[in-house]
Amino acid sequence: VLLGMALAVYRRWGMEVPRLVSNSMDLYAIVAVALIIVSGFLLEGVKITSRSVYLRMVQEYADLSTPEEERALEAYWVAKFGLISPAVKGPVEEGLLRMGEELHEMSCAGCHSRPRWAFLGYGVARAIKPVALPLDRAGAAEGLWWVHVLACLVALAFLPFSKFFHLLTAPLCLLCNAVMERGRSSPANLTTKRMIELDACTHCGTCTVRCSAAPVVEVMPNSDVLPSEKIASLKVLASGKELSRRRLEELLEGIYLCTNCYRCTVVCPVGIDLQDLWFEAREALFRRGVVEVSVLSPLSFFRGLMRAEVEEGYEVPLAGAKEAIAARFQPAEEPIQVPTDAELQGRLDLSADARTFHVCFSCQTCSNACPVVANYDDPEGALGLLPHQIMRACALGLRELAFRAEMLWRCLTCYQCQELCPQGVRVADVLYELKTLVVESMKGKEDEVRPLRRL
Ligand code: SF4
Ligand code: SF4
Ligand code: SF4
Ligand code: SF4
Repeated sequence: VLLGMALAVYRRWGMEVPRLVSNSMDLYAIVAVALIIVSGFLLEGVKITSRSVYLRMVQEYADLSTPEEERALEAYWVAKFGLISPAVKGPVEEGLLRMGEELHEMSCAGCHSRPRWAFLGYGVARAIKPVALPLDRAGAAEGLWWVHVLACLVALAFLPFSKFFHLLTAPLCLLCNAVMERGRSSPANLTTKRMIELDACTHCGTCTVRCSAAPVVEVMPNSDVLPSEKIASLKVLASGKELSRRRLEELLEGIYLCTNCYRCTVVCPVGIDLQDLWFEAREALFRRGVVEVSVLSPLSFFRGLMRAEVEEGYEVPLAGAKEAIAARFQPAEEPIQVPTDAELQGRLDLSADARTFHVCFSCQTCSNACPVVANYDDPEGALGLLPHQIMRACALGLRELAFRAEMLWRCLTCYQCQELCPQGVRVADVLYELKTLVVESMKGKEDEVRPLRRL
């Protein structure tokens, strides 16, 4: 435990882990554990040396009938158990020690093994040997007992409000993840799971270290961009407390700047589905009419506007988003002419399944997960477009651009992209169908077909 505590302190305040935030709850956790452990070891060490503690035990448990027996047992405890006694001075005769050992076996051995087994407590006893008698006279054992017990009781009472609560909620969270699934479990159960997840966070900061949006805080001082801080703010919000307008705006900004890249969920050691939390928080705030029009996040803009196509009942947030955008931005006086390339303007004509590319919000999870992309130092140079770019090309109707992507022919159809896509885009199926369309479009143009480059 001591080693773990030392590592925790070193990681938080010695290692300078990028963007790792330490708050008062982390400090409390370390101080509480340190107080319990250190007071425990000190108490053990003081009790080993304390003559008053020894005499109380003798009075209560030992059946000694003569002063010689009392002297023998005490001498044995001084020699073998680290007791410090002014009544035992100088070398002790062998006979007296043997008698002490017999008495110890009769009265004490049932409860007391050799103190060396408590190696830290015994080490403390050896270290305080020169001051053991004054400490005993000052009642150090009783004082430390109170400190230790109070530290344990306070930590126990504060447990539900501290990050130690994860000791109970983290296993529950992992269990829920194993048996529950979005789309199959009831919404009420999913809400309960999310509340458990909020309590399971240990504020370890692993998600923040890996967050793809986190570098933003270097130019935008909003800690709610970091997933470990965002979840802490969500916890406050979920507990029913009102957040100040400024805190709410910061939280909203943090939520909308998230690219939903999935990294935080993958690395969270207690299995919190963070991506799902951001997703739900976004929806909940959207439905409550709290609208953020930041276009930095494709989700905040693109998903909000496209949602009407994929789900019923989204009119209110959709209208809110449109109104907020209209209120903030002036429409252009003249329609903007986007340069077009006639060759790229054909519409894709894929099956209903593959048309899911419409709900892609460019989080790049598919490209991050793709083993083919990972194989290249310069994937865009080697593959033309990456999977998420192909989805966007499809959504924009850039048929020829999508058709020419080398990625189509390098795809291993491993389906990792499709399995991990938070929007349910059938990425691998889209690539597969694109390939079919390319082959169909090349009928009669066999001379133009070029051989694949070697990998
Ligand atoms: S999903 Fe959002 S919060 Fe999580 S790592 Fe990606 S950008 Fe960061
Ligand atoms: S990785 Fe998980 S437990 Fe750690 S701070 Fe992030 S959400 Fe909390
Ligand atoms: S297809 Fe899915 S995983 Fe890929 S960028 Fe779009 S939403 Fe993200
Ligand atoms: S199916 Fe293709 S695009 Fe998707 S992860 Fe596998 S190789 Fe990459």
